[in-house]
Formats: sequence, structure tokens, C-alpha cells
Amino acid sequence: MEEMINKYFRPGRLPHIWCPGCGNGVVTGSVVKAIAKLDLSKDDVAVISGIGCSSRASGYLDFNTVHSAHGRAIPVATGVKLAEPKLNVIVLTGDGDATAIGGNHFIHACRRNIDLTVVVYNNSIYGMTGGQYSPMTPYHSKATTAPYGMIEPDFNLAELAKAAGATFVARCTTFHAQMLSDLIVKGIQHKGFSLIEAVSACPISFGRQNKMGGPAEMMMWQRDHAVPVAAWDKLPEEKREGKFPIGVLYQVEGRKEYTEAYDELIAMAQGGK
Ligand code: SF4
Ligand code: MG
Repeated sequence: MEEMINKYFRPGRLPHIWCPGCGNGVVTGSVVKAIAKLDLSKDDVAVISGIGCSSRASGYLDFNTVHSAHGRAIPVATGVKLAEPKLNVIVLTGDGDATAIGGNHFIHACRRNIDLTVVVYNNSIYGMTGGQYSPMTPYHSKATTAPYGMIEPDFNLAELAKAAGATFVARCTTFHAQMLSDLIVKGIQHKGFSLIEAVSACPISFGRQNKMGGPAEMMMWQRDHAVPVAAWDKLPEEKREGKFPIGVLYQVEGRKEYTEAYDELIAMAQGGK
């Protein structure tokens, strides 16, 4: 572990600023383990983040990194990928960052099927700014901006990504850390837009307001509500209530990837064919 920290984290940046029991460290660790499993050179990896608790991750990691503006990680990553398609471009973003201010960018990146690996740290809330609701705050949950409970239905991000054109869609939790890392490996290996939603615990800004207990209880909640996709497929509708599937939810090969299409366009415009 120490060897991995010395190799992939910037010297002098740890300890991180996340609250005790926050799931962000588990997700960030899973990203690093995935990169290590694939034995990618650090120079061949770009990590782009937006703004929010989880987006602080890019500052700790020793790759080509950009800590960009709120909601804008995906357009910055799109520019990086277009300029240098051989890079493995990984976006680290939160549920608020990716689906509210960055929601427009998210759906269009899916539609283009650009080869980005987008890891959404889904803690169900805006953690950094004090617990305001996001588009992924579960229905009827409390937030500082929804003290009587959320009346807006929340996004199913996996379904949204699939409908918008993403070609690899997975979900996992911080309780299932090993699986999370394996899914990030698959997302990086997949040629095209990959979403990995990581259901993560924010014991401070979400857990307290919703009386979910401490960090350990929130992880037990993940254990008890996440269902591996093979079991989910056999589960009758009435037993699915309140639960969610984890694993690879959708994958399709063979759809044209955006930077390839763009390179072909340039070649054609230059008179190649
Ligand atoms: Fe983690 Fe929540 Fe604290 Fe942010 S506010 S660091 S998401 S526990
Ligand atoms: Mg969040």
C-alpha cells in the first residue's frame, strides 16, 4: 500500500481534507488500484475533475491532472482527449457536479461516445457546500434545501447514460471496493464513453440529516441495498423496491468512438479519402 501511495500520490499532499468516514478515499483508492492493475504509465493517464469534495481527488494524484471549474470536467476532458487521443482520460466528479451544472455536458459526451472514463462519486448530496440537494438526492430524503424532504424524483444516472448513448455503464458502492476497482479497469479498457457510478457515503452532509448513523452504518446500508446484477435480474419486481443493481449494467461494442470519427473527418477534409 505504501508503495502504491508513493508511486501514485503527489508527495506532501496527504493527509487529505475529507471528513473521517467519507467514501471519497475508497473511490479514489479504487481508481488508483485500477490504474496499477492495468500497469498504465503515469504519463499516459490524465485525470480531470470538477468542483466539490470528490473533485479534490485530482490534486492528490500524480498524473497529468486538471482541477477544473464546477460542472466542466467533461468538456475539459473532451479537449484533452481530442488533443491527445492516446491518453487514458479519467474524469472524477460528484453527483452534483456531473448531473446538475454539468448535466448538459454529461449527456452530450455520452451521445458522442467519446472515450472517457467517468467515475461519479455519488454521495447523494452537495457535500462541500453544506448539504444542498442534487439531482441524485433520493426522493423524500432531506437536504438543507429540502428540510421537509426532497419532492423531485432523482435521476437514475445509469439509465440516463445508456439512453444518451454511453457504451459502458456500471454501478458499484464503496462497500464493494474490490468490485469497484475491477469495474473501473473494465471502464478504462472499454473504447467509448464509460460511466462508473460509485455509490459513496457522506456521513456529514447527507448521513446526519437523514439519520443514517455513522460511516460503518452507511456502508452496511450499501451492503444491504446493492444487489449484484446477476441476482437482480432474477429478482421479482416487488423485491426490487428500494434496492439497486451493481456490476456492469450495460455494454455495447462497435459503436464509433468520437476521436476516431474526428480523425477520419480531418483525413477526409485533407483529401485523404
Ligand atoms: Fe466526504 Fe461529505 Fe465530508 Fe465531503 S462533506 S468530505 S463528501 S463526508
Ligand atoms: Mg455529491
